[in-house]
Amino acid sequence: MENIYFNSSHTYYRTQLGVFIQEHIAPHIAQWELEEHIPKYIWIELMHFINDLKKGTKGKVMKNPGSYFYDVVLIEELAKLNYAGFAASYGICQLAKPYLENYGSEYIKRTYLDQIKNGEFWCSIAITEPSGGSDVAQLKTLALEFDDHFLINGSKTFITNGVYADFYLLAVKIKALDVEHMSLIIVDASSDGITKTKIPKMGWHCSDTATIGFQNVRVPKKNLVGNQGFGFQYLMEHLQNERLYVAVMAVADMDDMYSYTRRTLTSKHHVLNPYQLIELSKVYAEIQVFKNYVYHCCAIFDAGIYAVKECTIAKKSTSEALIKLINKCMDLLQFSSVDEKNEIARKFRDARISTIGGGTSDIMSEILSKIVLDQKAYTQAIS
Ligand SMILES: Cc1cc2nc3c(=O)[nH]c(=O)nc-3n(C[C@H](O)[C@H](O)[C@H](O)COP(=O)(O)OP(=O)(O)OC[C@H]3O[C@@H](n4cnc5c(N)ncnc54)[C@H](O)[C@@H]3O)c2cc1C
Repeated sequence: MENIYFNSSHTYYRTQLGVFIQEHIAPHIAQWELEEHIPKYIWIELMHFINDLKKGTKGKVMKNPGSYFYDVVLIEELAKLNYAGFAASYGICQLAKPYLENYGSEYIKRTYLDQIKNGEFWCSIAITEPSGGSDVAQLKTLALEFDDHFLINGSKTFITNGVYADFYLLAVKIKALDVEHMSLIIVDASSDGITKTKIPKMGWHCSDTATIGFQNVRVPKKNLVGNQGFGFQYLMEHLQNERLYVAVMAVADMDDMYSYTRRTLTSKHHVLNPYQLIELSKVYAEIQVFKNYVYHCCAIFDAGIYAVKECTIAKKSTSEALIKLINKCMDLLQFSSVDEKNEIARKFRDARISTIGGGTSDIMSEILSKIVLDQKAYTQAIS
């Protein structure tokens, strides 16, 4: 089915990016996956390439370069690499941007946001703690306030880009007048008192994940993002971006998985039997439904609508469907699905993360039940 969401600029962007990814990322990604490290130079090259494309310096002037569908195109093209960790690492930096853009001071924008935009800095969003990630309000990492600085103690875990990030957008409680309020603060990753421990994990190998310890880490007050005590509201405002990003990734991965399965079956059997044809067409049909719902969510997000319900449904349903559909494709492929040298084994590992990262399926269900059954209205706390 043709869709109404992409125009000729998106198509041009897709073609150019596709070439860039094939020439600059594809030849190295297997090595980065082994090393569990994506080198800084590729972020710089990628961000410069994207910025130049959007500015029109590569030939064609892009219509509406701020449209979210350019991000969708990028995620879809990255999915063809079949190393989901790359899109995950990239995504975290893009998801950090709105916090700095909307609430950061001029100093923060100049020092951190601009560097993210040109790829010179890479970052983490550090919320989850060893005592639990779902209940964001209960985090324990504490910042004590002094004249011109904070002193931070605590720890974060499962943090994407945690080892190689240049800075952390850190959720902390700031203690003031015997009250603890959550705030967001930027911490340079090279600060004294920080320890980083890489966590070996099942999938997303090229994307590093870490536990980060903070022991008397001194952070200047000018690194506070927005107002003190507003961290929870800021997170609630933007966590839906993360849900949508996971959903777009999930659907892009489904598409790639379908193409791979069809290609592999056809090259093995030449003529597919009726069972294979029926099962493949069912997989294809399911993907179309998810894809078009997610595109719909992207369109309302692009229109500036605060769509908590839609992004939550998209995150939960696509991440669960991705795992289910990969299982179905693995059944169709049989031995070639578990053969480590084949793409789908890695896709299976990578996919499993999607119902955990960005908020678990249970938490998505909890939010949905509040909206749908308790009639809770999630309104934008901050414009
Ligand atoms: C690869 C990867 C990358 C990640 N990257 C980041 C990152 O960059 N930054 C970051 O901050 N975090 C990151 N996370 C952490 C992720 O967001 C958390 O794992 C997730 O939010 C769940 O937190 P938890 O693991 O502490 O589980 P818990 O919160 O302890 O939950 C355990 C179980 O209880 C269920 N549960 C908890 N509360 C409720 C409830 N109220 N109702 C129903 N069920 C509930 C959960 O669904 C889950 O099944 C990452 C995780 C992974 C796997």
